[in-house]
Amino acid sequence: MKAVAINNKRVPHQEQHATQSHENLGMEELVRQMLARVGEDPSREGLLDTPQRVAKSMEYLTSGYQLQPADVVNDALFTVDYDEMVIVKDIEMFSMCEHHMLPFFGKVHVAYIPKGKVIGLSKLPRLVEVFARRLQVQERMTTQIAEAIQEIIQPQGVGVVIEARHLCMMMRGVEKQHSSAVTSAMLGSFRQPSTRNEFLSLVRKKQSSSF
Ligand SMILES: [Zn+2]
Repeated sequence: MKAVAINNKRVPHQEQHATQSHENLGMEELVRQMLARVGEDPSREGLLDTPQRVAKSMEYLTSGYQLQPADVVNDALFTVDYDEMVIVKDIEMFSMCEHHMLPFFGKVHVAYIPKGKVIGLSKLPRLVEVFARRLQVQERMTTQIAEAIQEIIQPQGVGVVIEARHLCMMMRGVEKQHSSAVTSAMLGSFRQPSTRNEFLSLVRKKQSSSF
C-alpha cells in the first residue's frame, strides 16, 4: 500500500473549524448530507475533510458574486491615440453551469476597438473571472463580459467569443465527449460584418496554428 504524506502539516480539524464562517459550516453540513444521500459514509476516513474542502472550493468558484467589474479594473484605463483592434485570445476560463452545477471550461477571446482609451491587458482575464466564478450559462456570460467591457472602456465596439466544453454534456446526458459550444457577443462597430469577420478570422487563425 502506498502512503501519501500530504496531511502531516495540517492544522487539527477542530481548530480549522473554529476559524470558519457560519455560512461555511452550513455548507459543510449540506455536503455531509449529500454524501450520505448518494450512499456514502461521511464518517469514513477519506471523506472526513471533504465537506470542508468542498465548502472552500465552492466559495472560491463562486467568488465572482462578491465582485463587480469595476473592482478588478481599478484605474487601469489609459488614454491612447490608437483606433485599431485590440485582441486578447485564449483567455482560460473555468465556470460552472447553473443547470447541473458541473464545470464548463474553455477559451475566451476578447476584442475591442478603442475610442481614446485602452484597458491594461492583464485586466481582461480578471474581468472574465468576475463572471466565470458564478453559476452561469455560457450565452449569458458571453454577453456579460462584452457589456462590462463596453461600459468600462466605452470603445467603438466589443467582440467576445467563448468556446467551451461542458461536463454536463460530456459526463452525463448525451455524453458527447468532443462537442464544444461556441457563443459570441458583438457590440457597436463589431456588428458591422467587416469588423466582425476580421475578429473571427483572427480568432480562427490562432487555433489552426496551435492545435
Ligand atoms: Zn449543464
